[in-house]
Amino acid sequence: MMQNTIVKTLIYDKQVRLLLIDNTKLMNDILSLNRGTNKILKLTLGKTISAVSLIAGTLKGNQRISLQLTMSEPKYKIFADADANGNIRGYLNEALLKAAKKQLKDLSLNHLIGNNGTIRVIKGSEMHQFTGITDMPYRNIVDDISHYFNQSEQTQTFIGTNLTLTKDNFVQHSNAVYAQLLPGASHDLLIRVRHIFLTNRNFFTNLLKQPNIKIEEKLSELFEDVKVIGYSPVQFFCGCSKEMFYGILHSLSENDLPNHEDIETVCQICGRSYHFSYNEVQRLLN
Ligand SMILES: [Zn+2]
Repeated sequence: MMQNTIVKTLIYDKQVRLLLIDNTKLMNDILSLNRGTNKILKLTLGKTISAVSLIAGTLKGNQRISLQLTMSEPKYKIFADADANGNIRGYLNEALLKAAKKQLKDLSLNHLIGNNGTIRVIKGSEMHQFTGITDMPYRNIVDDISHYFNQSEQTQTFIGTNLTLTKDNFVQHSNAVYAQLLPGASHDLLIRVRHIFLTNRNFFTNLLKQPNIKIEEKLSELFEDVKVIGYSPVQFFCGCSKEMFYGILHSLSENDLPNHEDIETVCQICGRSYHFSYNEVQRLLN
């Protein structure tokens, strides 16, 4: 399986941690499962996925992070999660998928998020977890996720994403950066990184597309004192299993089930289907 890779660097004499990724493959894997949705919802989900795919590069050991974005209309939710091994998932909830073709057809992201959007983050390992909730004052996902880090974790953060879809809503290219101010560094540096990213979008798209490029040298065209400190992979991974559907089958009554037929259940997140033979279903019900 081809993977996408996070490039981890320190810039400005170790005052800013800068992570970069070309996650075109990951984005394609996830967004191609959302064929029924419209462009705005694909961009919305895509920005969320880009953010978590870089946050994955900041996790250690058995840490994981889950994001739940709730729009002003609280039945509309976006989920994304990542672990330290770079396993990434992201999906729109049922209500958003259902509304994509009708109510939300011509809506902008700004309007979809609205005045009362919130981000709920659960982060940590199984033994040690914390939850933070912040609002979404920027109404554009990436600055709102940065806002979460500034407010809830007191880390000054900038997240930037480039995501281009073709006319037919396929992913043409997708890349992102995550910059974090290290303790004692001046906030001006983060403003500088932000400005450089937003005014050199093509540079970042081309930089990470090329294999075997001297990244340190290339990044030094834009930033001072660049040092590459590591790489880590990211990939789409759902983690669902046939066992997860036992409970759903259990909750059905015998009248809900087709007579003497096998059952096919489909994971809403990754589209994988699980087959239950008639005999298996009977065993689960009894
Ligand atoms: Zn799945």
